[in-house]
Amino acid sequence: MSISKALTIAGSDSGGGAGIQADLKTFQELNVYGMSAITAITAQNTLGVHGVFPLTAEAVVQQIEAIGSDLGADAIKTGMLFNSEIIEAVSEQIKIFNWSKVIVDPVMIAKGGASLLQDEAVEAVKNHLLPLALIVTPNIPEAEVLTGMKIHTLDDRRAAAEILHSLGVKNVVIKGGHVENENQLVDLLYDGTEFSYFSSERIETKNTHGTGCTFAAAITAEMAKGNTVYHSVETAVSFIQEAIKEDLEIGQGHGPTNHWA
Ligand code: PLP
Repeated sequence: MSISKALTIAGSDSGGGAGIQADLKTFQELNVYGMSAITAITAQNTLGVHGVFPLTAEAVVQQIEAIGSDLGADAIKTGMLFNSEIIEAVSEQIKIFNWSKVIVDPVMIAKGGASLLQDEAVEAVKNHLLPLALIVTPNIPEAEVLTGMKIHTLDDRRAAAEILHSLGVKNVVIKGGHVENENQLVDLLYDGTEFSYFSSERIETKNTHGTGCTFAAAITAEMAKGNTVYHSVETAVSFIQEAIKEDLEIGQGHGPTNHWA
């Protein structure tokens, strides 16, 4: 039996809610074989990130080489990359293996405030990774850091998407979940020509840990299966809605969204 394969290059969340763990659970849920290259280990639970232990770029490269030289991957997702050395090494491997379905979740700061990307590494994301990416999936604060602009209105979001597209990434998804006081959330997709909008109801819950990771992992799984960018984003939007509805009340803090009933 053959199966589509997806690789996540990201950080480990010991609490199982975000990062590598969320990605692998999502791949499995969407019937895609999941593989991982770990960039950093976090000591983490629903209350927050208590420690960050990055691996060396060499350790990351060897994991990717092991996968690329044997199993191969139909789509790749990057999450927490932590520093510019790891970003440059990962970008090099993407070129070596000629991977084209590259989904970049530009993870920067965890909900509790812990830094998952060093300040010095933002330029490396823009200069090395985004030119190789098929899709980038920032939330609004991440889009602000990557573009240097403040984003208030939907017009601002469209302008930010155009700036990100000019950095070389083919499709930009700006997630609407961080807009406050709105019941209707709009995720925006820009393919360099057209804007598409995906609207969903806000679900009131504190259990949203790992939402961004799970969303980008769902896009990656759908791309691995050979679906179009539009279809993959559309599927991921409804997938994450369902996952948030099925939130778990476990731990004392922000429960995870990567469990399915
Ligand atoms: N920890 C890791 C390893 C992650 O990759 C991410 C993803 O963005 C997070 C934590 C963020 O978690 P939260 O959804 O609580 O902000």
